[in-house]
Amino acid sequence: MIKPDKPANEAERLQALYRYRILDSEREKSFDDLVVIAKALCGTTMGAVTLLDTERQWFKSIQGIDAAENLRSESMCGHAILTPHEIMVVEDALEDVRFHDNPVVVGDPHVRFYAGAPLISSDGLPLGTLCVFDARPQHLDPDKAEALAALSRQVMVVMELRRFALDLQQHMHERADYERLLSEYHDVLLAQNADLAEQSRTDALTGLPNRRAMAVALEEATTPVDGAARAACVALVDIDHFKNINDFQGHATGDRVLAELGVLLRSHFAGHGLAARYGGEEFVALMPGTGLHEAELQCEFLRMAVAELPLGFPVTVSIGVAAHRPGDSIDQTLARADAALYRAKAGGRNRVERAV
Ligand code: GH3
Ligand code: MG
Ligand code: MG
Repeated sequence: MIKPDKPANEAERLQALYRYRILDSEREKSFDDLVVIAKALCGTTMGAVTLLDTERQWFKSIQGIDAAENLRSESMCGHAILTPHEIMVVEDALEDVRFHDNPVVVGDPHVRFYAGAPLISSDGLPLGTLCVFDARPQHLDPDKAEALAALSRQVMVVMELRRFALDLQQHMHERADYERLLSEYHDVLLAQNADLAEQSRTDALTGLPNRRAMAVALEEATTPVDGAARAACVALVDIDHFKNINDFQGHATGDRVLAELGVLLRSHFAGHGLAARYGGEEFVALMPGTGLHEAELQCEFLRMAVAELPLGFPVTVSIGVAAHRPGDSIDQTLARADAALYRAKAGGRNRVERAV
């Protein structure tokens, strides 16, 4: 027996073969069908589509015998791919020096006749064969050899289509992965945007809405509905001598006072108004649907509640409260509340003054 040589371009040939991702794949009817036709065409009992891996010959389709693969060194196809542009025909293996003592000739399935048409990749490399074989010696007419070669090209068409389908599948997978990633990024961005929007409306130290959020609320509360003006009062709340708290208790304690006041203001106006940090040690409260007298009372309660805060040292606030006048701008109302606050400071602090 003569073992088949490996072609000079073996490494390149294997690379080409592996690109088809076909080795060890399941059986497929399209290959089986071509083997059926090849057998019928050549009048043999056995046939196969074989692919030549490094040391083995692997059958994509095999008929007439039961095998999945065998040694490349004992394969007849290993010889067939050495002349890639010819069909290799062995009319009687017992009379061929390469095969007369080959295990598949002297043992099962006792091959005598063999014809193999090389399978040539799109880049011209022999990957295996479409072959037919039989236990009886035989002759192959040139027209049948021609037809076998044509069928071997059909095997390659099926292999190319199969590879194309695999690539497409992978591409679709990658695309689905990519789209999933994009959608995840989108969700993260949405969440971040929501966070940012929240942050841009909230004062970090007190957790109260900030001046920007209050401006929106003020505008909304004072815009007439169906031409009818709406009652609303606005109060400016300023901590008395806050600078002294910072100076004597430290800035961190000053921050704590602001935070405590934030909690108090939030609960005080919960349900019937809105309190916000206006800036520094100044807060603003909106009391929609509230008359000036009632608003003044609410501010008085607030002032007393601040004075009662258990902070370990006295903290008081001065408050200026104004009723929004129909036709006035928000800024005008705030300016009137500020003027009232100024009077509260000037009058001795820890008091509520109403705007005129
Ligand atoms: P008045 O009774 O006239 O309002 O006196 P005041 O000391 O409260 O007012 P002034 O405007 O002189 O000082 C306000 C101080 O508030 C000055 C500033 O350093 C302090 N302040 C502003 N923002 C913060 C803050 O976020 N944290 C702390 N700890 N202090 C702040
Ligand atoms: Mg102050
Ligand atoms: Mg101030």
